Order: sequence, then C-alpha cells, then structure tokens
Amino acid sequence: MPTLPYRGRFAPSPTGPLHFGSLVTALASFLEARTHNGRWLVRIEDLDPLRESQTATTQILESLDAHQLHSDEPIRFQSNRHEYYEAAILRLQAQGNAYPCLCSRKQLKENSGHTESCQQRAPLPAGLPHAIRFALENETFRWQDELLGLQTLTIHAGADDPVIKRKEGFYAYQLAVVVDDIDQGISHVVRGSDLLDTTGQQQQIYRALNAPLPSWLHIPVILNEQGQKLSKQTHAPALDDSQPARNLIRALAALGQQPPPQLHNASVTTVLEWATLNWQPLLIPRHPHPEQPHPEQP
Ligand code: GLU
Repeated sequence: MPTLPYRGRFAPSPTGPLHFGSLVTALASFLEARTHNGRWLVRIEDLDPLRESQTATTQILESLDAHQLHSDEPIRFQSNRHEYYEAAILRLQAQGNAYPCLCSRKQLKENSGHTESCQQRAPLPAGLPHAIRFALENETFRWQDELLGLQTLTIHAGADDPVIKRKEGFYAYQLAVVVDDIDQGISHVVRGSDLLDTTGQQQQIYRALNAPLPSWLHIPVILNEQGQKLSKQTHAPALDDSQPARNLIRALAALGQQPPPQLHNASVTTVLEWATLNWQPLLIPRHPHPEQPHPEQP
C-alpha cells in the first residue's frame, strides 16, 4: 500500500532569537524528516506584530543557517497568508463552526460558556470590535502521540472555545497552524510538549475543515536551572551561533542520543551526518528535563 510522503516542519514564532530549547525541537523534527526520507520545511509563525519582530525572524533564520538546518522548500511566512486564514474563518462560520464573540476569557469562565449574545451566534451590530471563536464540541477522545503514547483528552465546548481571530484583527495560532499544516501537506508534526494540550482542539479544527489528521510527536521541553521552560519569557539566552557543532551535540544529548566523544571536535556537517545515521527516537526522554551541561572537549 503506498504511504503518504513524509512532510515535517519547524514553525517558530519570532518572539526572540533561537534558544537551546528551540534548537532541540528544530533538530528533532529535522532528523525525523531525514530518517523518513521526507521533506523538512521552515515556517515563520509571525502572526502577532505586537509580540514579534523582524529582527527575531532574521536571527532565527541566521541561526538555523549556522546549524545547517536548511528548509527543503521556500520559507513560508504566516504574515503573507492572511487571505487564507480569512477564507477558513468564513468557511467555519458558514458551517456553524465559528462565531463572533464579545466576551473576555474572564466572562466566559464566569458564565461557564458564552454569554447570551455570543450563544445566539448571530451577526453582531456593525463596527463592534469582536473576536471570532471556534465552536468546540464536547468530546472525550483518545489519540496516539508517536512518543508519549496514548493520550486521553476531554474537550469542553463553550468556556474553552479558542479565539481564532482576535478583536485587534490578528489571526490566532490555533487556526493558522492548522490551515498551514493542511495547505503544506504536513504529515508529521514534531514539536514541544508544551503544545500537547492544544492538539485536541486542533484535531477538531482539522475535522471541521474536512482534512486528514497528521501524526504528532511531542518532545519534552527543556528546563532552566529554576525548572522553568526555556523561552523568551524565562530569559533563555540566544544560541551562540559561533559554536554550531557544539550546540548540536548538546541538543542531541538532550534528545537522549549518545554522540561519541570523537564527534566533539567535528564539523556541523559531520555531526548532522552522524545524527541522521544514528537517530533513535525511542531514546528521547518522555519528561521535561534540565539543559545538559556543555560536553567536555576530549
Ligand atoms: N509557533 C509555535 C511556537 O513557536 C509552534 C507551532 C507548532 O509547532 O505547532 O510555539
């Protein structure tokens, strides 16, 4: 039976330069694609001009380049794709899967769902700034994560309905990630386990858009010394792009791989070749864990 071609991706939001945690995710998705003879795409999820910057985009792309993690197809920028997100929203609204909403998250919580105006799912008076929410269905279901195994999820319609377009007019991650993964034919999503909880809602959006589901593999997030996820908010330092081979070896160690000491002085090309030949996804740790110390030079 023919199998779908493997198409994976790395999809950073440009809120800051690449840090060690994002390198680990990029490397895992790259190696999964390479070892499945697949394509690996880079997509910049630049949906929120208030939190993101062109500088961060440039830094991320330069850093990926320094680590020889090159996209197999032209890099996609979500900031160029607004018309496609708008078309998806119109379709979801026409199908009854999305509705305009004036409620804040607090109001939704207090009312355990939409207020009456939203519940009617009726058009709002013109000119009133509003968000658009995806209408979740109440559901408990199981799905299989490629690394973490069987996941059981309960989705609550109403209070959890995700915003897919913010009242400021920005399209939200939860919609754009699904629209682009469908459009780019992404068959396998490899990403950090901080996004595990978004997967159930995303599965309902796939279904509403009548698209086949990809498979998901969530890798553990890397923690700093205080036990917090490495991120811009926790002041994760930018990667030192002058040491790409060394960074990659540390990232491999964080992924449970065992690069031999001889590799510690090797070039980036050699490290990536070794990693592709010896990649063992089953060795990836299942739980969030601290950053590895720098390997000793032999
Ligand atoms: N853009 C998201 C982030 O940087 C990741 C999207 C995804 O991999 O689904 O957190």
